[in-house]
Amino acid sequence: MVYKSVSPSQTKRIGESLARKLLRSSSKKALIVTLEGDLGGGKTTFLQGFAKGLRVKKKILSPTFVIMKKFLIPRGGTFRYFYHIDCYRIKGPEEILTLGFKEITSNPENIVAIEWADRIKKILPKEKVSLKFQFVNKNNRKIIINFKDD
Ligand code: ADP
Ligand code: MG
Repeated sequence: MVYKSVSPSQTKRIGESLARKLLRSSSKKALIVTLEGDLGGGKTTFLQGFAKGLRVKKKILSPTFVIMKKFLIPRGGTFRYFYHIDCYRIKGPEEILTLGFKEITSNPENIVAIEWADRIKKILPKEKVSLKFQFVNKNNRKIIINFKDD
C-alpha cells in the first residue's frame, strides 16, 4: 500500500488508523512495526499518530539519548505495552540485544515500533509490518506499508 501525505497531521492520521487496525489483530509473538527511510521522512511523526491510535497517553518524542521507551496501552485487548525503539545512534545489533530485545519481541503482549530498523536487520523477526518513508518535498511524503512474512 502506498500513501501520499501532504502534512504532518495527515501522516499522524495514517499512523493512527494503522494502530487501530493492528489493535484488532493478535499474534503469537510481539507485533513488530519497522520504519525506514530518509531523515525527516516522518517516522517519528507517524509514531505520534500511531501511539494516539493505541490510546497511549504520553507524548512520543525523537529519543535523543534513549534508545528504547516503553508505554502502557490502556484497554488494548491482548496488547499491553508499546515499545518505541530508535536505532539511529546505535553501533550495532548487540546494543539492542542487551536491552532484552529477544524477550520483548517474543512477548505477544507487546507492540514494538523500530525506527531505522535497517541497522538491526540481522536480528529482526520475519513477520512484521514494514514502513518506508520517502521525502518528496517540504510538506510531501510517500509512505509505503507492507505486511511481511518472509
Ligand atoms: P524522522 O523520524 O523520519 O527523522 P520526523 O518525524 O522526526 O522524521 O520529522 C519529520 C519532519 O518533517 C517534521 O519536522 C515534520 O513537521 C516535517 N513534515 C513536513 N511535512 C510532513 C509530512 N507530510 N509528514 C510528516 N512530516 C512532515
Ligand atoms: Mg525519528
